[in-house]
Amino acid sequence: MPAETNDFAAAAAITVWEDDPASGTLTVAPLPDVAKQPFGYLFDTPAPPPSDQTGSAAFRYWTAAEALRRGADFWAPQVPAQEWQRGPILEVYLDRWEDLQADYDRTSLNFYHRTLPAETIYTGASPDTLCHELGHAILDAIKPQLWSTGVPEISAFHESFGDMSAILCALQLPSLRASVLANTAGQLYCNSRLSRLAEQFGVTLHVEDAHVADADCLRNAWNAFNYCDPSSLAPQQLTTSLSSNPHSFSRIFTGALFEALCTFLDYHAADSGAPTPDELLEVSEQVRAIMAGGVIRSFVVTGYFAEVAHRMVQESALVDSQYGAALLDIFVRRSILSTETAEAIRSRQTESDTGSDKTDEPRDQLVALSVPASEFGLEEPLLVETGAETPRFIARGATVDGRSLESASPEAAAASFVAELFANGQVDPGEYKIREPDKPPRRESRTHVIVRDEKGLRLRRRLFHCRQCDGACGVALTASWRDA
Ligand SMILES: [Zn+2]
Repeated sequence: MPAETNDFAAAAAITVWEDDPASGTLTVAPLPDVAKQPFGYLFDTPAPPPSDQTGSAAFRYWTAAEALRRGADFWAPQVPAQEWQRGPILEVYLDRWEDLQADYDRTSLNFYHRTLPAETIYTGASPDTLCHELGHAILDAIKPQLWSTGVPEISAFHESFGDMSAILCALQLPSLRASVLANTAGQLYCNSRLSRLAEQFGVTLHVEDAHVADADCLRNAWNAFNYCDPSSLAPQQLTTSLSSNPHSFSRIFTGALFEALCTFLDYHAADSGAPTPDELLEVSEQVRAIMAGGVIRSFVVTGYFAEVAHRMVQESALVDSQYGAALLDIFVRRSILSTETAEAIRSRQTESDTGSDKTDEPRDQLVALSVPASEFGLEEPLLVETGAETPRFIARGATVDGRSLESASPEAAAASFVAELFANGQVDPGEYKIREPDKPPRRESRTHVIVRDEKGLRLRRRLFHCRQCDGACGVALTASWRDA
């Protein structure tokens, strides 16, 4: 791989997409230094001379370089280790092969292309998609224990963090802040360019499979989805409903955080009817601290939405007491927290008067569970990681009438997690024999792999995708495109 250098000092500024090619909005940004530490990148191609031709490889390169540099610089203050999960450098592959996908695999961010009759779509051309994948890498650097756990709600939270990363990183552009405030008349909580994620990717994917993307974007943070037990949901639904797939289920938590961002802006703005771009920038930084602080202090449990929501309420109360109360209300309204849990949080906050219980800190220890796997064709059980600790205060999600919902046992959560992976063809069996779905994705695109260690067969995560991937994912052109 060539060494990364920027030899374009003369080009002090470059032109890039603001958030997505489909928005068609360009902005001018400083020439980024992708190798800058902390959180340096190594691209798989040498830096080309900057170009204003939006269809060119050089334009895509600099759009990716600018978005990833901006995103890493934004998140850097919140990452205690001050490096990626695997060290100081993260590799970037802007066009791996034909697929409508993007992923993070701990050593690299990977993007792909889809050849359509009239044009080719590059997933690495969208700052939304770039900053979603960056979000996986940042969360992995902040809390590596979330990587390999067999807990459906944790996989979904990883996706939510990625989508919120796309939104918060977009808000670091002065031109985008001014534009969204003008276009929404200062009332950000609506369906907008900010709430819609990866529009070009989503529109293309929707034509291939309406189960996987909305008609106008990949996912929308402006939504009204409420929490329910993920094991009660079907594995696949139209995007108007929730499914148990992590990308679909993630929309509950993203919806709550997007609503929180907009609500906090109302509180923070000197004139709530006319928030300024600077005030919006400050709120984006507050939400960043609340998210990262909540994650760091969260325990790895099966009811992870309620657990991390509780921690974020504590963090937000440290920023502003109004934020804490508002975030708690949002989580209760979306059934992420039960009314009983909310009452207990309120009384704990009153007692300690700090909003934070420093005696209830996770040690981030994991343990392996043995999950029977004969139904998937394996002769031995699979070892699947889960959290080894229980917090002193157990936050619970809610039933539709607000009552506390018992979280799944670690064994039940791991069994659901494994069953969904096999059903969607997401397990690379390595040298072992398994039952495969009819049209399995190519092996290197699967999220998990089976490996053997001294304790037995282990299920290991290989990557996080940016979109739902079922048995037909990764297969080249679908019939609808061939017929077009
Ligand atoms: Zn993702």
